Amino acid sequence: MATYQLPELPYDYGSLEPHYSAELLELHHAKHHASYVNTANELLDRLADGEELPAGFERALVFNVAGHHLHSLFWTCMSPDGGDPPDGELAAAIKDGFGSVESLKAHLDRVVETTMGSGWAAVAWDGLGRRLHVLAVHDHQGDQLLGLSPIFVVDAWEHAYYLDHRNDKAGWMHAFWAMADWNAAGQRFLAATQDR
Ligand code: MN
Repeated sequence: MATYQLPELPYDYGSLEPHYSAELLELHHAKHHASYVNTANELLDRLADGEELPAGFERALVFNVAGHHLHSLFWTCMSPDGGDPPDGELAAAIKDGFGSVESLKAHLDRVVETTMGSGWAAVAWDGLGRRLHVLAVHDHQGDQLLGLSPIFVVDAWEHAYYLDHRNDKAGWMHAFWAMADWNAAGQRFLAATQDR
């Protein structure tokens, strides 16, 4: 029984060009993201079958499930109509927490550009502190504060940009901001802040 499913993208593979090539978007979605979904389901099948579990099983499961969660969020952070700044209550919370949207973007740029190996930059709501945090995520899940609600994420793995930008991470972020879409993040922010 497949627990996880690869979501369809809310736009066509070619629709983010010239900021993100169709070839890279298809590879990223249909190969990389799909691999996390398939591997997570295979691991869960082994769990359900009562097989003896190998060392590192839990880490492998979390790695793949977290990869699925992050990519599912990531696709909603870009749009063919993107490039506008956040608005409404999310914009107000960003101003409260980071001074300005430009400061937050610079913070996310820095996280992506200083990622060692593979990782993500994320903006997450902390219901306990009633504030947003910027997270530098190692791989998909390392060194994280549990209990936060991620609302906006940027993929800093080489597979996310290398085909289009080679080793130019600043070029990747420049392209990302041109298609960044905060609308889904704004909805997630409202849901998270109402939740707690
Ligand atoms: Mn990725």
